[in-house]
Amino acid sequence: MRIVQGILSLGLGCSALEKFCMNMNLNIMSSRTFNFYKKKILGGHLFAANQMLCNIRKDVKEAYGSRNDNDVVDIGVSYDGSWLTRGHTSNIGIGCVIDLLTGFVIDFEVMSKRCEECQQTKLALGEDTAEFHFWYEGHRDFCSITHVGSSGSIGSKQQ
Ligand SMILES: [Zn+2]
Repeated sequence: MRIVQGILSLGLGCSALEKFCMNMNLNIMSSRTFNFYKKKILGGHLFAANQMLCNIRKDVKEAYGSRNDNDVVDIGVSYDGSWLTRGHTSNIGIGCVIDLLTGFVIDFEVMSKRCEECQQTKLALGEDTAEFHFWYEGHRDFCSITHVGSSGSIGSKQQ
């Protein structure tokens, strides 16, 4: 798991690990095993991120003088966004809600303009075919595309 985590933290994937293992004269990890650990690591990151968000929200409430978890508290926030790659052409971005008093990020949303499943199915069935539209109706709720339009609008100020 540690070697998969290390490869992922470098922004690399299974084939990079394969090349590394070949050069180090080590046994090669199968892509199935790599993806198994990748999924476990993602689950761990999501769990830790959610736990951290809960703790931060509690701290922010306390900073505004709230002692009860069920209190609704008026707070001042700003919104900002960023992209995975430079420029305004990235397919993956993140929007963050930042508390003005503490400076903590209290909520975020990762937005994607790409869905690998949609891409593959468009190639197989054709984008404007009835088959694709029928398939898409069943896929819509599971689609990775969470942002449509320009990448620049991910970071725009919203109320
Ligand atoms: Zn999709």
